[in-house]
Amino acid sequence: MEKIVVLLHTEPDGTLSRPALEALTVVRSLAADLGSEFAAALVGESVQEAAGLVAGAGASSIYAVEGSDFHHARYTSDAVALDALCRRAAADLVVAPGTSRWNRVLPGIACRFGGRIDTHVCDINVEGGAPVVTRWYYRQRMKARIGRTQRPWFIVCDPGSFSAFEGEVKEVPIEPIATPLAETGFKTEVVGFQKPAEGGQTIRPDAELLFVAGAGWTKMQPDGNARVGDAERLILSFLKSTRASLGGSKSMVDLSSEGQETLAFMTHLNQIGQTGATPRHPKGLSTCCHGEEPHVVGWRFITERRAVNLDPNCGWAQGKADVLYVGDAFEIISKVNELLAEG
Ligand SMILES: Cc1cc2nc3c(=O)[nH]c(=O)nc-3n(C[C@H](O)[C@H](O)[C@H](O)COP(=O)(O)OP(=O)(O)OC[C@H]3O[C@@H](n4cnc5c(N)ncnc54)[C@H](O)[C@@H]3O)c2cc1C
Repeated sequence: MEKIVVLLHTEPDGTLSRPALEALTVVRSLAADLGSEFAAALVGESVQEAAGLVAGAGASSIYAVEGSDFHHARYTSDAVALDALCRRAAADLVVAPGTSRWNRVLPGIACRFGGRIDTHVCDINVEGGAPVVTRWYYRQRMKARIGRTQRPWFIVCDPGSFSAFEGEVKEVPIEPIATPLAETGFKTEVVGFQKPAEGGQTIRPDAELLFVAGAGWTKMQPDGNARVGDAERLILSFLKSTRASLGGSKSMVDLSSEGQETLAFMTHLNQIGQTGATPRHPKGLSTCCHGEEPHVVGWRFITERRAVNLDPNCGWAQGKADVLYVGDAFEIISKVNELLAEG
Protein backbone atom coordinates (compact mmCIF):
# COMPACT_ATOMS: atom_id res chain seq x y z
CA MET A 1 0.00 0.00 0.00
CA GLU A 2 1.31 3.46 -0.91
CA LYS A 3 2.10 5.76 2.03
CA ILE A 4 0.76 9.26 1.41
CA VAL A 5 1.57 12.61 3.02
CA VAL A 6 0.36 16.13 2.28
CA LEU A 7 2.88 18.93 2.92
CA LEU A 8 1.32 22.24 3.95
CA HIS A 9 2.61 25.54 5.26
CA THR A 10 0.49 27.92 7.26
CA GLU A 11 0.03 31.60 6.46
CA PRO A 12 1.48 34.26 8.78
CA ASP A 13 -1.85 34.34 10.68
CA GLY A 14 -1.77 30.56 11.23
CA THR A 15 -4.51 29.73 8.71
CA LEU A 16 -4.27 27.59 5.57
CA SER A 17 -4.44 29.33 2.20
CA ARG A 18 -6.89 28.29 -0.51
CA PRO A 19 -4.17 26.35 -2.43
CA ALA A 20 -3.46 24.40 0.78
CA LEU A 21 -7.16 23.58 1.17
CA GLU A 22 -7.24 22.44 -2.46
CA ALA A 23 -4.29 20.12 -1.78
CA LEU A 24 -6.29 18.69 1.13
CA THR A 25 -9.15 17.90 -1.26
CA VAL A 26 -6.67 16.17 -3.56
CA VAL A 27 -5.01 14.08 -0.89
CA ARG A 28 -8.35 12.99 0.56
CA SER A 29 -9.64 11.75 -2.77
CA LEU A 30 -6.29 10.17 -3.70
CA ALA A 31 -6.17 8.28 -0.39
CA ALA A 32 -9.80 7.18 -0.76
CA ASP A 33 -9.21 5.95 -4.33
CA LEU A 34 -6.08 4.05 -3.30
CA GLY A 35 -7.69 2.68 -0.15
CA SER A 36 -4.91 4.23 1.98
CA GLU A 37 -4.63 6.61 4.89
CA PHE A 38 -2.82 9.91 4.59
CA ALA A 39 -0.62 11.82 6.99
CA ALA A 40 -0.14 15.59 7.06
CA ALA A 41 3.06 17.55 7.64
CA LEU A 42 2.76 21.20 8.62
CA VAL A 43 5.31 24.03 8.66
CA GLY A 44 4.76 27.47 10.16
CA GLU A 45 5.15 29.76 13.11
CA SER A 46 1.94 28.36 14.55
CA VAL A 47 0.15 25.29 13.23
CA GLN A 48 -2.53 24.56 15.87
CA GLU A 49 -5.45 26.04 13.95
CA ALA A 50 -4.42 24.41 10.68
CA ALA A 51 -3.85 21.06 12.42
CA GLY A 52 -7.47 21.04 13.63
CA LEU A 53 -8.74 21.44 10.08
CA VAL A 54 -6.32 18.88 8.70
CA ALA A 55 -7.50 16.43 11.37
CA GLY A 56 -11.08 17.19 10.32
CA ALA A 57 -10.06 16.29 6.76
CA GLY A 58 -9.13 12.82 8.04
CA ALA A 59 -5.33 12.87 8.39
CA SER A 60 -4.22 9.78 10.33
CA SER A 61 -1.11 11.50 11.77
CA ILE A 62 0.02 15.10 11.88
CA TYR A 63 3.70 16.02 12.01
CA ALA A 64 4.75 19.62 12.50
CA VAL A 65 7.79 21.84 12.38
CA GLU A 66 6.73 24.95 14.24
CA GLY A 67 8.35 28.17 15.42
CA SER A 68 9.27 31.73 14.55
CA ASP A 69 12.08 30.54 12.23
CA PHE A 70 9.35 29.12 9.98
CA HIS A 71 7.14 32.20 9.85
CA HIS A 72 8.54 33.36 6.49
CA ALA A 73 9.42 31.56 3.29
CA ARG A 74 13.18 31.04 3.22
CA TYR A 75 14.93 28.27 1.30
CA THR A 76 17.25 27.17 4.13
CA SER A 77 14.69 26.89 6.91
CA ASP A 78 11.95 25.48 4.65
CA ALA A 79 14.35 22.88 3.21
CA VAL A 80 15.47 21.81 6.70
CA ALA A 81 11.83 21.54 7.83
CA LEU A 82 10.67 19.59 4.78
CA ASP A 83 13.68 17.30 4.91
CA ALA A 84 12.88 16.37 8.53
CA LEU A 85 9.16 15.97 7.84
CA CYS A 86 9.64 13.83 4.74
CA ARG A 87 12.07 11.60 6.63
CA ARG A 88 9.49 11.11 9.40
CA ALA A 89 6.58 10.53 7.03
CA ALA A 90 8.61 8.19 4.75
CA ALA A 91 5.85 8.55 2.16
CA ASP A 92 5.72 7.17 -1.39
CA LEU A 93 3.34 9.87 -2.59
CA VAL A 94 3.82 13.47 -1.45
CA VAL A 95 1.03 15.91 -2.30
CA ALA A 96 1.64 19.67 -1.95
CA PRO A 97 0.04 22.94 -3.06
CA GLY A 98 1.91 24.91 -5.76
CA THR A 99 2.39 28.04 -3.67
CA SER A 100 5.37 30.28 -4.41
CA ARG A 101 6.88 29.17 -1.06
CA TRP A 102 6.70 25.46 -1.86
CA ASN A 103 7.53 25.83 -5.57
CA ARG A 104 10.85 27.29 -4.54
CA VAL A 105 11.93 24.50 -2.24
CA LEU A 106 10.15 21.27 -3.24
CA PRO A 107 12.24 20.42 -6.33
CA GLY A 108 15.36 20.48 -4.13
CA ILE A 109 13.69 18.23 -1.56
CA ALA A 110 12.55 15.76 -4.23
CA CYS A 111 16.17 15.63 -5.42
CA ARG A 112 17.50 15.00 -1.87
CA PHE A 113 15.19 12.02 -1.55
CA GLY A 114 16.04 10.62 -4.97
CA GLY A 115 12.42 11.13 -5.95
CA ARG A 116 10.58 12.69 -8.88
CA ILE A 117 8.42 15.78 -8.95
CA ASP A 118 5.55 16.90 -11.18
CA THR A 119 4.37 20.48 -10.84
CA HIS A 120 1.27 22.29 -12.19
CA VAL A 121 -0.83 19.18 -11.70
CA CYS A 122 -4.45 20.04 -12.48
CA ASP A 123 -6.09 16.62 -12.16
CA ILE A 124 -5.30 13.31 -10.51
CA ASN A 125 -6.97 9.93 -10.90
CA VAL A 126 -6.25 6.37 -9.94
CA GLU A 127 -6.05 3.88 -12.80
CA GLY A 128 -5.20 0.22 -12.33
CA GLY A 129 -4.40 0.93 -8.69
CA ALA A 130 -1.84 3.65 -9.47
CA PRO A 131 -2.08 7.45 -9.57
CA VAL A 132 -2.08 9.26 -12.92
CA VAL A 133 -1.66 13.03 -12.90
CA THR A 134 -2.64 15.51 -15.61
CA ARG A 135 -0.90 18.75 -16.54
CA TRP A 136 -0.74 21.10 -19.50
CA TYR A 137 2.30 21.86 -21.64
CA TYR A 138 3.18 24.30 -24.38
CA ARG A 139 1.00 27.19 -23.23
CA GLN A 140 -1.99 25.05 -22.40
CA ARG A 141 -2.17 23.49 -25.85
CA MET A 142 -1.02 19.97 -24.97
CA LYS A 143 -2.38 17.93 -22.10
CA ALA A 144 -0.21 15.14 -20.64
CA ARG A 145 -1.23 12.29 -18.36
CA ILE A 146 1.69 11.04 -16.32
CA GLY A 147 2.19 7.92 -14.22
CA ARG A 148 5.46 7.08 -12.45
CA THR A 149 7.00 4.07 -10.80
CA GLN A 150 9.72 6.10 -9.03
CA ARG A 151 9.07 6.87 -5.36
CA PRO A 152 8.85 9.20 -3.58
CA TRP A 153 6.72 11.02 -6.12
CA PHE A 154 6.06 14.69 -5.32
CA ILE A 155 2.77 15.87 -6.82
CA VAL A 156 2.42 19.66 -6.74
CA CYS A 157 -1.13 20.86 -7.40
CA ASP A 158 -1.81 23.94 -9.52
CA PRO A 159 -3.81 26.41 -7.41
CA GLY A 160 -7.33 27.02 -8.73
CA SER A 161 -7.68 23.54 -10.23
CA PHE A 162 -9.50 21.83 -7.35
CA SER A 163 -12.24 22.68 -4.88
CA ALA A 164 -11.08 23.89 -1.48
CA PHE A 165 -11.64 21.50 1.45
CA GLU A 166 -14.32 22.60 3.89
CA GLY A 167 -14.96 20.70 7.06
CA GLU A 168 -15.15 20.49 10.80
CA VAL A 169 -12.18 21.24 13.03
CA LYS A 170 -11.13 18.30 15.21
CA GLU A 171 -8.86 17.95 18.21
CA VAL A 172 -5.78 15.94 17.37
CA PRO A 173 -2.35 15.26 18.82
CA ILE A 174 0.47 16.81 16.82
CA GLU A 175 3.86 15.12 16.66
CA PRO A 176 6.52 17.85 16.81
CA ILE A 177 9.50 17.15 14.58
CA ALA A 178 12.89 18.55 15.53
CA THR A 179 15.19 20.11 12.95
CA PRO A 180 18.92 20.81 13.16
CA LEU A 181 18.30 24.47 12.27
CA ALA A 182 19.49 25.72 15.67
CA GLU A 183 22.94 24.15 15.02
CA THR A 184 23.21 24.84 11.32
CA GLY A 185 21.70 28.34 11.43
CA PHE A 186 20.90 30.28 8.28
CA LYS A 187 22.54 33.10 6.41
CA THR A 188 19.39 34.79 5.11
CA GLU A 189 17.37 36.98 7.43
CA VAL A 190 13.88 37.94 6.30
CA VAL A 191 13.35 41.56 7.32
CA GLY A 192 9.80 41.96 5.98
CA PHE A 193 7.75 42.58 2.89
CA GLN A 194 7.74 45.60 0.64
CA LYS A 195 4.40 46.22 -0.96
CA PRO A 196 4.12 47.91 -4.34
CA ALA A 197 2.60 51.39 -4.35
CA GLU A 198 -1.21 51.63 -4.22
CA GLY A 199 -2.60 50.28 -7.47
CA GLY A 200 0.70 48.58 -8.26
CA GLN A 201 -0.28 45.07 -7.29
CA THR A 202 -2.96 44.20 -9.79
CA ILE A 203 -2.34 40.47 -10.37
CA ARG A 204 -4.24 38.40 -7.80
CA PRO A 205 -4.27 34.70 -8.68
CA ASP A 206 -6.75 33.91 -5.89
CA ALA A 207 -9.32 36.53 -6.96
CA GLU A 208 -12.90 35.46 -7.73
CA LEU A 209 -12.90 37.70 -10.79
CA LEU A 210 -10.53 38.41 -13.67
CA PHE A 211 -11.07 41.91 -15.06
CA VAL A 212 -9.56 42.38 -18.51
CA ALA A 213 -8.89 45.81 -19.94
CA GLY A 214 -8.43 45.89 -23.70
CA ALA A 215 -6.90 48.53 -25.93
CA GLY A 216 -10.32 50.13 -26.45
CA TRP A 217 -9.89 51.99 -23.14
CA THR A 218 -7.11 54.04 -24.75
CA LYS A 219 -8.74 54.53 -28.19
CA MET A 220 -10.54 57.59 -29.48
CA GLN A 221 -14.07 57.53 -28.12
CA PRO A 222 -17.33 58.56 -29.87
CA ASP A 223 -16.83 62.18 -28.62
CA GLY A 224 -13.55 62.33 -30.58
CA ASN A 225 -11.23 62.18 -27.56
CA ALA A 226 -9.15 59.49 -25.90
CA ARG A 227 -9.92 59.25 -22.17
CA VAL A 228 -6.94 57.43 -20.69
CA GLY A 229 -7.08 59.36 -17.39
CA ASP A 230 -10.76 58.46 -16.93
CA ALA A 231 -9.98 54.84 -17.84
CA GLU A 232 -7.28 54.67 -15.15
CA ARG A 233 -9.56 56.08 -12.46
CA LEU A 234 -12.49 53.81 -13.39
CA ILE A 235 -10.41 50.65 -13.56
CA LEU A 236 -8.49 51.31 -10.32
CA SER A 237 -11.71 52.12 -8.50
CA PHE A 238 -13.30 48.91 -9.80
CA LEU A 239 -10.26 46.84 -8.77
CA LYS A 240 -10.18 48.43 -5.32
CA SER A 241 -13.85 47.61 -4.65
CA THR A 242 -13.88 44.12 -6.11
CA ARG A 243 -10.30 42.94 -5.41
CA ALA A 244 -10.40 41.50 -8.94
CA SER A 245 -7.21 40.49 -10.74
CA LEU A 246 -6.28 42.70 -13.68
CA GLY A 247 -5.55 41.24 -17.10
CA GLY A 248 -4.84 43.02 -20.35
CA SER A 249 -4.93 42.24 -24.05
CA LYS A 250 -1.68 42.17 -25.97
CA SER A 251 -2.60 45.38 -27.80
CA MET A 252 -3.12 47.07 -24.44
CA VAL A 253 0.12 45.93 -22.81
CA ASP A 254 2.16 46.63 -25.94
CA LEU A 255 1.11 50.30 -25.99
CA SER A 256 3.63 51.35 -23.34
CA SER A 257 6.56 49.78 -25.21
CA GLU A 258 5.36 51.58 -28.35
CA GLY A 259 5.54 54.91 -26.50
CA GLN A 260 1.75 55.51 -26.60
CA GLU A 261 -0.32 56.81 -23.75
CA THR A 262 -1.56 53.88 -21.70
CA LEU A 263 -2.62 52.79 -18.23
CA ALA A 264 0.31 53.37 -15.87
CA PHE A 265 -0.31 50.14 -13.93
CA MET A 266 -0.58 47.83 -16.97
CA THR A 267 2.49 45.72 -17.72
CA HIS A 268 3.33 42.68 -19.84
CA LEU A 269 2.81 40.55 -16.74
CA ASN A 270 -0.91 41.34 -17.04
CA GLN A 271 -1.19 39.96 -20.58
CA ILE A 272 -3.74 37.19 -21.02
CA GLY A 273 -3.63 34.92 -24.05
CA GLN A 274 -1.61 32.73 -26.32
CA THR A 275 1.61 34.62 -25.61
CA GLY A 276 0.48 35.70 -22.14
CA ALA A 277 -0.98 34.05 -19.07
CA THR A 278 -3.79 31.51 -18.70
CA PRO A 279 -5.06 32.24 -15.18
CA ARG A 280 -7.76 30.36 -13.31
CA HIS A 281 -10.65 32.38 -11.88
CA PRO A 282 -14.30 31.45 -11.42
CA LYS A 283 -15.45 34.54 -13.36
CA GLY A 284 -14.08 36.93 -15.97
CA LEU A 285 -15.22 40.32 -17.25
CA SER A 286 -13.66 41.64 -20.43
CA THR A 287 -13.94 45.34 -21.24
CA CYS A 288 -12.95 47.21 -24.41
CA CYS A 289 -11.28 44.08 -25.73
CA HIS A 290 -12.25 42.61 -29.07
CA GLY A 291 -12.08 38.97 -28.02
CA GLU A 292 -9.81 37.69 -30.79
CA GLU A 293 -8.76 34.05 -30.62
CA PRO A 294 -5.11 34.59 -29.54
CA HIS A 295 -6.48 36.53 -26.57
CA VAL A 296 -9.42 34.26 -25.72
CA VAL A 297 -7.29 31.09 -25.52
CA GLY A 298 -5.94 32.63 -22.31
CA TRP A 299 -9.49 32.40 -20.90
CA ARG A 300 -9.51 28.61 -21.16
CA PHE A 301 -9.83 28.16 -17.39
CA ILE A 302 -12.26 31.03 -16.71
CA THR A 303 -15.55 29.37 -15.86
CA GLU A 304 -18.07 32.18 -16.44
CA ARG A 305 -17.21 34.80 -19.08
CA ARG A 306 -18.80 38.19 -19.65
CA ALA A 307 -17.73 41.04 -21.89
CA VAL A 308 -18.56 44.71 -22.49
CA ASN A 309 -18.03 46.01 -26.02
CA LEU A 310 -19.50 48.73 -28.23
CA ASP A 311 -19.42 46.32 -31.15
CA PRO A 312 -22.22 43.70 -31.22
CA ASN A 313 -20.15 41.70 -33.71
CA CYS A 314 -16.96 41.55 -31.65
CA GLY A 315 -15.28 38.20 -31.06
CA TRP A 316 -17.02 37.70 -27.71
CA ALA A 317 -20.36 37.58 -29.58
CA GLN A 318 -19.09 34.59 -31.58
CA GLY A 319 -19.81 32.10 -28.79
CA LYS A 320 -16.79 33.07 -26.68
CA ALA A 321 -18.69 34.77 -23.84
CA ASP A 322 -21.68 33.65 -21.80
CA VAL A 323 -22.99 37.22 -21.74
CA LEU A 324 -22.04 40.19 -23.95
CA TYR A 325 -23.16 43.63 -22.83
CA VAL A 326 -23.23 45.86 -25.92
CA GLY A 327 -22.48 49.30 -24.55
CA ASP A 328 -19.91 51.89 -23.58
CA ALA A 329 -17.51 50.50 -20.96
CA PHE A 330 -16.85 54.00 -19.58
CA GLU A 331 -20.55 54.42 -18.78
CA ILE A 332 -21.08 50.85 -17.61
CA ILE A 333 -18.06 50.62 -15.29
CA SER A 334 -18.78 54.09 -13.93
CA LYS A 335 -22.31 52.95 -13.00
CA VAL A 336 -21.00 49.66 -11.58
CA ASN A 337 -18.50 51.61 -9.44
CA GLU A 338 -21.32 53.80 -8.13
CA LEU A 339 -23.32 50.71 -7.15
CA LEU A 340 -20.27 49.11 -5.53
CA ALA A 341 -19.65 52.28 -3.52
CA GLU A 342 -23.23 52.16 -2.23
CA GLY A 343 -22.45 48.65 -1.02
C1 LIG B 1 1.06 35.09 -32.67
C2 LIG B 1 0.10 36.00 -31.95
C3 LIG B 1 0.01 35.92 -30.59
C4 LIG B 1 -0.88 36.76 -29.90
N1 LIG B 1 -0.98 36.63 -28.55
C5 LIG B 1 -1.88 37.40 -27.89
C6 LIG B 1 -2.06 37.27 -26.48
O1 LIG B 1 -1.40 36.49 -25.81
N2 LIG B 1 -2.98 38.06 -25.89
C7 LIG B 1 -3.73 38.98 -26.57
O2 LIG B 1 -4.54 39.67 -25.96
N3 LIG B 1 -3.56 39.12 -27.89
C8 LIG B 1 -2.67 38.37 -28.57
N4 LIG B 1 -2.50 38.57 -29.89
C9 LIG B 1 -3.16 39.73 -30.51
C10 LIG B 1 -4.65 39.54 -30.77
O3 LIG B 1 -4.82 38.87 -31.99
C11 LIG B 1 -5.34 40.91 -30.84
O4 LIG B 1 -4.66 41.75 -31.73
C12 LIG B 1 -5.45 41.63 -29.50
O5 LIG B 1 -5.97 40.76 -28.50
C13 LIG B 1 -6.38 42.82 -29.67
O6 LIG B 1 -6.47 43.54 -28.47
P1 LIG B 1 -7.78 44.35 -28.10
O7 LIG B 1 -8.98 43.54 -28.33
O8 LIG B 1 -7.59 44.91 -26.72
O9 LIG B 1 -7.71 45.62 -29.08
P2 LIG B 1 -8.56 46.01 -30.34
O10 LIG B 1 -8.55 44.92 -31.34
O11 LIG B 1 -8.07 47.35 -30.74
O12 LIG B 1 -10.06 46.10 -29.79
C14 LIG B 1 -10.51 47.16 -28.99
C15 LIG B 1 -11.96 46.88 -28.70
O13 LIG B 1 -12.44 47.86 -27.79
C16 LIG B 1 -13.78 48.15 -28.12
N5 LIG B 1 -14.10 49.46 -27.54
C17 LIG B 1 -13.53 50.66 -27.82
N6 LIG B 1 -14.07 51.63 -27.04
C18 LIG B 1 -14.99 51.01 -26.26
C19 LIG B 1 -15.90 51.48 -25.26
N7 LIG B 1 -15.96 52.76 -24.89
N8 LIG B 1 -16.69 50.56 -24.63
C20 LIG B 1 -16.67 49.25 -25.01
N9 LIG B 1 -15.85 48.75 -25.95
C21 LIG B 1 -15.02 49.64 -26.57
C22 LIG B 1 -13.81 48.13 -29.63
O14 LIG B 1 -15.14 47.90 -30.10
C23 LIG B 1 -12.88 46.95 -29.94
O15 LIG B 1 -13.61 45.74 -30.03
C24 LIG B 1 -1.63 37.72 -30.61
C25 LIG B 1 -1.52 37.80 -31.99
C26 LIG B 1 -0.66 36.97 -32.65
C27 LIG B 1 -0.55 37.08 -34.14
